[in-house]
Amino acid sequence: MIDQDDAINYKTLLESTKAIPWKINWATKAFEYIGPQIEELLGWKQDSWKTAQDWIDRIHIDEREQTANYCIDLCQKGVDHEADYRALTADGDYVWVRDVVHAIREGGETTYLVGFMFDISERKKLEDELRAANRKLEALSYQDGLTGVANRRLYDQTLEKEWNRAHRNGTSLSLVVIDIDHFKDYNDQCGHLQGDQCLIQVANVLRDIACRSSDFFARYGGEEFVLLLPETGRDAARDIAERCRRAVVDEAIPHPASSAGNVVTISLGVASVMPAEGMEPSQIFEIADRMLYQAKRNGRNRIACSWPQSVSSSIA
Ligand code: GH3
Ligand code: MG
Ligand code: MG
Repeated sequence: MIDQDDAINYKTLLESTKAIPWKINWATKAFEYIGPQIEELLGWKQDSWKTAQDWIDRIHIDEREQTANYCIDLCQKGVDHEADYRALTADGDYVWVRDVVHAIREGGETTYLVGFMFDISERKKLEDELRAANRKLEALSYQDGLTGVANRRLYDQTLEKEWNRAHRNGTSLSLVVIDIDHFKDYNDQCGHLQGDQCLIQVANVLRDIACRSSDFFARYGGEEFVLLLPETGRDAARDIAERCRRAVVDEAIPHPASSAGNVVTISLGVASVMPAEGMEPSQIFEIADRMLYQAKRNGRNRIACSWPQSVSSSIA
């Protein structure tokens, strides 16, 4: 038996915890009790919690219906549960809370609900910060650290996606592989730090040349870049490659040891394919890379396109 002293002790104990105790009569849906701490947390007076409807009305509209239906259904079945939601404060703000609910049953019927409401706003804030930090980390993991453009990892994923899309839709896909000419000599003559600056400058020039939202530019590695052009045929891809070549020449970055002029230049290999069954995404790179090799052999600062246009070239 709980005597009166015990009851007072229990009440004191319940009302001095951070968790806010409450009790609802399931038949009448009336609050039989809610701890006075509720006023400190949400600002609503203890006696303003009259029925379960007051509880429902103070749930954020975005999760009100879902939370109420979820809790009512489980209470009906007598299943203990938890629910997280934003509770309205008397000032019109919201506080993230968690209700932990226990259904008391008699003769197979729910008679009372007892529970505790916890302030989980601090934890939610930390979770939000963690999510934002994760998103930032994820974005960074797809970015080249030096130039800030997309990196090889994102290129691999984008190629796979665009390859599959082109295969599905029966459209052509083009790839331009771009390599800075005589970059080793540039580093040797100007120093590695200047080499880094040159890479940044070339990336900045090239990143905005192709302008469709599905066009994709990335640093493949070292002094090589790639430009993936969905729904683009050979002629259009070649025009874009030529715009890239010309833009780098126009940038006029002095190169003291280039065989292709006294400025930094690039060579470009272009491949255009209609992805078909049995072909691998890596094949488009192999073709473009072979074309790049061809452009290098033909004298650099030029473009080579895959068959049927065979090799074409242009000099600044
Ligand atoms: P080619 O015209 O045939 O392409 O000759 P290349 O000298 O450009 O090619 P090679 O592959 O011989 O040399 C590439 C150079 O690019 C060597 C490497 O030190 C330099 N490089 C690669 N990544 C970076 C980087 O992040 N920063 C700097 N500064 N240099 C880099
Ligand atoms: Mg190279
Ligand atoms: Mg090179």
